[in-house]
This record gives sequence, C-alpha cells and structure tokens, in this order.
Amino acid sequence: MSDFDITALIHHPYRAPDGFLAPQAGVYKASTVIFPNVAAMRSRDWRNRNGYTYGLHGTPTTFLLEERLAALEGGSHCVLVPSGLSAIALVDLALLAAGDEVLLPDNVYGPSRELARNELLRLGISHRFYDPMDAAGLAFMITPATKLVWLEAAGSVTMEFPDLVNLVAAARARGVTTALDNTWGAGIAFKPFELGIDIVMHALTKFPSGGGDVLMGSVTTRDAALHERIKLTHMRLGLGVGANDAELVLRSLPSIALRYAAHDASARELAAWLGTRPEVARVLHPAFDSCPGHAHWKSLCSAAAGLFSVMLDARFGQAQVDAFVDALQLFSIGYSWGGPMSLAVPYDLRAMRGDKAYAGTLVRFSIGLESAAALKADLEQALRRLA
Ligand SMILES: *Cc1c(COP(=O)(O)O)cnc(C)c1O
Repeated sequence: MSDFDITALIHHPYRAPDGFLAPQAGVYKASTVIFPNVAAMRSRDWRNRNGYTYGLHGTPTTFLLEERLAALEGGSHCVLVPSGLSAIALVDLALLAAGDEVLLPDNVYGPSRELARNELLRLGISHRFYDPMDAAGLAFMITPATKLVWLEAAGSVTMEFPDLVNLVAAARARGVTTALDNTWGAGIAFKPFELGIDIVMHALTKFPSGGGDVLMGSVTTRDAALHERIKLTHMRLGLGVGANDAELVLRSLPSIALRYAAHDASARELAAWLGTRPEVARVLHPAFDSCPGHAHWKSLCSAAAGLFSVMLDARFGQAQVDAFVDALQLFSIGYSWGGPMSLAVPYDLRAMRGDKAYAGTLVRFSIGLESAAALKADLEQALRRLA
C-alpha cells in the first residue's frame, strides 16, 4: 500500500451545520443560489470558492468532493466533470489553441485519441503519438508548437508501464505542460505530483465510485494559475455534476484504499495462475516481469490496480477466444473497471493498432471483489473450451 494518508481522507475538516454531526456530509443541491442582496450578487467572484454563485459552479457537496480528491491525489485544487472523458476534453480545451500540438502516448485511452483526431483537429490543434517506453524519443519530438504532453500509466489495454520519470523530465526541460490520466493509479499506486506532473486527470467512474454506477471525472492541480485556467474553461463549458452523484463518490472514498488493495491482491493471484497455463502466451500486468515497463512500475509503485491482460497462444483464433470469454460465468462482458464485478473484454490488437508485437488475441480482465478461488475456477472451466 502507498503511504497516502487514509486517516486524513476520512477525518477531513468538514464542518457540519451547527448542532448536527454525522459521519457523512449532507447533500446540497441547487441550480439557483440565493444572494442576500444585490450588492452581494454584483460582487460575486465566479473564480474562487469564497462563495457560491450558481449551482453549475459548485455547491457545498461538490466542493467537499473536490477537496477530498485533491487530498487523495496530493494536489491543491480540483474540478469535477461529468465523466472521465470530459476531464480529458476539459484539459485539452483549457490548454490548447489553433496552431498548438498535443503529444499522446501511442497506447492512449481510445476515446482520447478520437477526440484528438476529430474535435481537436477541427479546431486547428494537431497531435502526434509517441512511444511511452521511449523518453529520449519524446524529447526529440517536442517542438515550439508542443503545448501539452499526455501521460498514462499503465496503458489500459496493453498495460505497459511507461518511463514516467524521464518522460516528465523531457517535457519539463522544454517547458511543456504534462497531464497524467491517473485512473489506474487512483492516487494510491504512486504520487504523480511528486514526479513534477502538472495536471492529474482521474476517471472517478472507476475506483473512487467503486460501484459501476456513477460517471464522473476530476482534474487536479497544484498550481493556482493553472487551476484558474482550467476552472474558467470549466465554467464556460458548463460542466457541472449532480450532487447525488457527488455524494455516491463521497460515500465510497473512505474505502478506496481497502478496495484497491483487494482488487490488486486477487488480480496478482489470478495473473500468476494464468501465467502457468499452456493456453496463455503472456501475462501483461505491470507487477510481472513479463510486462513491458515492469522495472518502471517497480521503481515507482507500491501497488497495482486490479487490471491485467493476457495474450492467448497464437494458435487460438478470434472466434475461439470470443467463445472463451462467452463461457465465463462470473466475469461479465463490459467496459470500465473498479467495481465489485469482474469483467472481461477481448481485443484484437492487430486490428486496433496494426501491431506485430501482439501476435495473439488479448483478453483484458478487470478483477472485482469476488473470491479469487471462485474466479479461478470460472477461468479454468472457460479455458477448457479453448482446448
Ligand atoms: C474509463 C477511463 C476514462 C474515461 O472515463 P469515463 O468516466 O468512462 O468517461 C479515461 N481514462 C481511462 C484510463 C479510463 O479507464
């Protein structure tokens, strides 16, 4: 487990309304926020949290969640958005303008790539893909037009753990802002701000929600000027979140470290077992030395998310692999991760990336909170279908 302060996360200096104390904060909902008089309305400051101005720009409930997420991530400022993907879009739109370029890792979260290829390109913002395992290569790609470098650790399908330290150093040496998609690390596996990363984006949909029932994202920073830039774009885009959803995440946050550790332990047990199976050609889990970037993971992280992929032996065709996934009883077929239910998704990487390095079909597993023994038995019966 990392040494982030779970006790501070639970004993947060929230002040209950006078005369009322309970473990959970109340839920405050508003579109209209009422000002005491016209002078107060005229002197409102949309930029900061000194007061409330309009529900879209924050309520006591969303401010509280923002503060707790900043504590989790080790940042000082945070804004909430309606999904992880909108957090990525917010960072792009706050920082980039026509003529600028953004660099994305070549294993970037798919919808981020599509955003760059469509909306960003239409706005005159170009992009190129870099190899996240090659920090020297990234340094070589940065030009005066490069305004943002996205980082992701680990890659969420192929699970490579990048050389974050040197990627960040390469960007910083050229004065380029870095933004990390920290959904996998979740504020627990490693401390991005201590590496000098400027912006941390998090799909709260995953571990912070923990239920598979909330969509939300956050953008956290340490720098006040950078936060203000993001916050102003956030306001102009109208990216509010509902207080009931914010409450669900507040309710789940105190157990995030325990859940993360449980997902991690089961995933490592199952990944190790799958690695012994003849049907499996390769286990892609950052804590295993069969995974690209394992040494980077080892030098930086104290934990891993419950996520890994296996490459099945090349003799199995896509139809057989699909039948294997269909035969799973406890694993559901679906996207996302971080919830109680285990999930499996087959990917044909050759089709996705034209990739020669991945000569077999890959199955990505998100390990939930079921018993590892039951999950193993399920995998075993489904593997028999392959033979
Ligand atoms: C899920 C996910 C997102 C997007 O989150 P949504 O809330 O589903 O939009 C972004 N990055 C990574 C790595 C994710 O896993």
